[in-house]
Amino acid sequence: MKVIEHIRNAKGTLFSLEILPPLKGQNIQSLFETMDQLMEYQPAFVDVTYHREEYVFRDAGNGLLEKHVVKKRPGTVGICAAITNRYKVDTVPHIICGGFSRQDTEDALIDLNFVGIENVLVLRGDPIRSEGRFKPEPDGHAYATDLVRQVVDMNEGRYLDPDLRDVQKTNFCIGVAGYPEKHFEAPNLNTDLKYLKAKVDAGAEFIVTQMFFDNTRFFEFTAKCREAGIDVPIIPGLKPLTAKSQLSVIPHHFHIDMPDELVDLVERSRNDAEVREIGVQWCIRQSRELKEAGVPVLHYYTMGKAKSTAEIAKAVF
Ligand code: FAD
Repeated sequence: MKVIEHIRNAKGTLFSLEILPPLKGQNIQSLFETMDQLMEYQPAFVDVTYHREEYVFRDAGNGLLEKHVVKKRPGTVGICAAITNRYKVDTVPHIICGGFSRQDTEDALIDLNFVGIENVLVLRGDPIRSEGRFKPEPDGHAYATDLVRQVVDMNEGRYLDPDLRDVQKTNFCIGVAGYPEKHFEAPNLNTDLKYLKAKVDAGAEFIVTQMFFDNTRFFEFTAKCREAGIDVPIIPGLKPLTAKSQLSVIPHHFHIDMPDELVDLVERSRNDAEVREIGVQWCIRQSRELKEAGVPVLHYYTMGKAKSTAEIAKAVF
C-alpha cells in the first residue's frame, strides 16, 4: 500500500522505521533479527536507505596509493523485496541522484516496479566523502526535484525512449526529505523551503524530516511549510542517542543542534549505557508530544539497532 494511503486510513499516529542494508559481505540475518524485535509494534512501512559508492585509497606496494571505488552497503532493492516477502510490510526504498544517470534511474525504477514496490523516497544524496561538493553524473540529476519529475514521468507512462509503445505506467507514491534546521548547503531556511515546495509541486506526496532533538524546531518548520503552501503530510524523523560521542558526531554529520538540556544530561552521564537510557527517555518525551500534536507518523532512524526503538515504541504506541 502507498504511504499516503496508510496515512489517509489511519485512526491515529502511525509507527515507521528506517533501516540500513548490511555491510557488504554480511548476511541478512542480523537485519531480520532487528526486524523481528520491531514487527510487534506493527510499522506501517519500513524505509531502506541507499548508499552510493565511496573512494578508498589502498597501498599499491610501490610507495603509491591506488584509488578504488567501493560500495559498502549495496542491496537496497533486495532488502526491500526480502522484508516485504518475510513480514508482509510495505517498504520504501530510497533512491538518489548521485551516481545514477537518467537511464540507470529508469532501469532501477523498472526493477522496483516489477518487485511490486509502490513507494520511493527521492533524494539527491550527499557528495562522495572525499569530494567537497555534490557532482551529478553527466546525464544524471543535480537536484531531487529533477528525480521526482522522472518518477512522475514514468507514473504517467513517459519513458526516456520516445519510441516505446504501449508502455506500462508505474504507480509510485513519492516522498522527499525536509530539513527543520535547514539543509546545510541552503543559504537560509526560506530558500530551502522554496526548493522543498518545488519538490512537492513536482509531485512529492509526503515529506520525511531530518532528525531533530527539539520539537520546537519541527513545529516551527511545519508552520512555515504550511505558510509557504506546502500541504502534504510531514513525517518527523527521530533518533534516540546511544553514545556520548554522538554529541559531536551528529551535529557534524547531520548539521543539526542539540538542546542545552539534552547536552547537559549526556555530558553528566558516566558511560554509554547511561547515555542510551537518556536517549530513550528523551525520544519517548519527543514522541509523546509529537503524537499529541497529531503528527501522521513517527519515523525512527534505527541505524540497524532495534533495542532503543523497541523500548520507545512500547512506551508510545
Ligand atoms: P535537494 O532537495 O536536491 O536539495 C539539496 C540542496 O540543494 C538544498 O540545499 C536545497 O535547498 C538546494 N536546492 C534544491 N533545488 C535547487 C535548485 N533548483 N537550485 C538551487 N538549489 C537547489 N542520503 C543518501 O545518500 N541515501 C539515503 O538513503 C538517504 N536518506 C535520507 C533520508 C532522509 C529522511 C533525509 C532527510 C536525508 C537522507 N539522505 C540520504 C541525505 C540526503 O541525500 C542529503 O541530505 C542531501 O545532501 C540532500 O538531499 P535532498 O534530497 O534533500 O536534496
